[in-house]
Amino acid sequence: MRVVAIDGPAGAGKSTVARALAQRLGLEYLDTGAMYRAVTFAAVHRGIPLDDTTQIGQLSREVMLTVNERGVVVDGIDATEQIRSAEITGSVSAVAANSEVRAEMRARQRDWAEVRGGGVIEGRDIGSVVFPDAALKLYLTASPRVRAERRVAEVGGDVDDIERAIAARDNSDSSRADSPLREADGSIVLDTSGLSIEAVLSTIEGLLNNPE
Ligand code: C5P
Repeated sequence: MRVVAIDGPAGAGKSTVARALAQRLGLEYLDTGAMYRAVTFAAVHRGIPLDDTTQIGQLSREVMLTVNERGVVVDGIDATEQIRSAEITGSVSAVAANSEVRAEMRARQRDWAEVRGGGVIEGRDIGSVVFPDAALKLYLTASPRVRAERRVAEVGGDVDDIERAIAARDNSDSSRADSPLREADGSIVLDTSGLSIEAVLSTIEGLLNNPE
């Protein structure tokens, strides 16, 4: 199984890099953040309180999720755009802190990779917890300001507000008890602040071709 694990904080460019890298390597790409967003969407849709850990855990095991290049389908509903709403973005860290949800998503992520013989997988705990033996583990980061500016370029909004929201989400994701956001052992840290996508991709390709 050949897994490239890409972790890092919000807005570091993980999705853009992971998608392009998968294409170049002829591998499939999995956005695990979309899975946590999809569970959050399902909870809101069903009216389950996000702090009801038992019901949310149960939901994560029942919910039908399809996450791929074409979009995100949750129990038959196309939620591709709605999972990116401010409401879901503001709530997802709470759902992602639920250990039952994490256990279920981890199992689904491992099944996904098993069936495909690997892939480029992006998230927060991919190299540290889900695939500690990945062929390459990357931790992509950038300064908070740059990350906020990138988000604003993509979806609009006020850069100060977005920077605050990103900082709050990173703080929740890094401080939770179960598989917090952190640099995995053996991961290579890439600060993408001043780098173009092309520069990031060629650095990664160099690492894949010349592993130490
Ligand atoms: O990558 P994205 O910003 O869409 O992720 C949304 C949220 O999902 C993160 O803020 C985090 O709370 C959660 N997440 C996670 N573990 C992952 C991927 C995402 O906890 N592997």
